[in-house]
Amino acid sequence: MDDPVVVEALAVRTADGPGQVRLLPPPTVSCELARAVSLWLDTSLQPLARGAFGRELTALHVGGGHECRRRNRQAQGQLSEHATGKALDIFSFQLGEEKQGGVAVSVEQPKGLEQSRFLDGVRQSACGAFMTVLGPGSDAAHANHLHVDIQQRRAASSRFCQ
Ligand SMILES: [Zn+2]
Repeated sequence: MDDPVVVEALAVRTADGPGQVRLLPPPTVSCELARAVSLWLDTSLQPLARGAFGRELTALHVGGGHECRRRNRQAQGQLSEHATGKALDIFSFQLGEEKQGGVAVSVEQPKGLEQSRFLDGVRQSACGAFMTVLGPGSDAAHANHLHVDIQQRRAASSRFCQ
């Protein structure tokens, strides 16, 4: 992996000025991926969260930062983007602080229409911010999380968004 970083939190702009979104547990990813996630949170997710719930995004529950393995944990085949630190798996979004009646939106089981709509928006914006986006409905391996990565695809303009 080039430029590995352990990401505890990323800076975002909130309604009250500079804020941050924590990543739990802190993943090890490439600096380039951290930068892409940071930009996405600041420009797309934070405004989406505020619009949908009137709350700031405070944390992402993540998994699958750096992990040296092949795609979908198969014994054979192409290396996973997680092997290069260029991918992140997101399991849920925390809005507001838990102690103050915050909301957790699970990628696998959103509660109600409002949360489902929020996740649709999240996914749409991710398709613009990353090269590959996979999640529930893509395939069985991604039924409970959103996978985003910045691996260049063969054609520079081709993105993979399911
Ligand atoms: Zn993944």
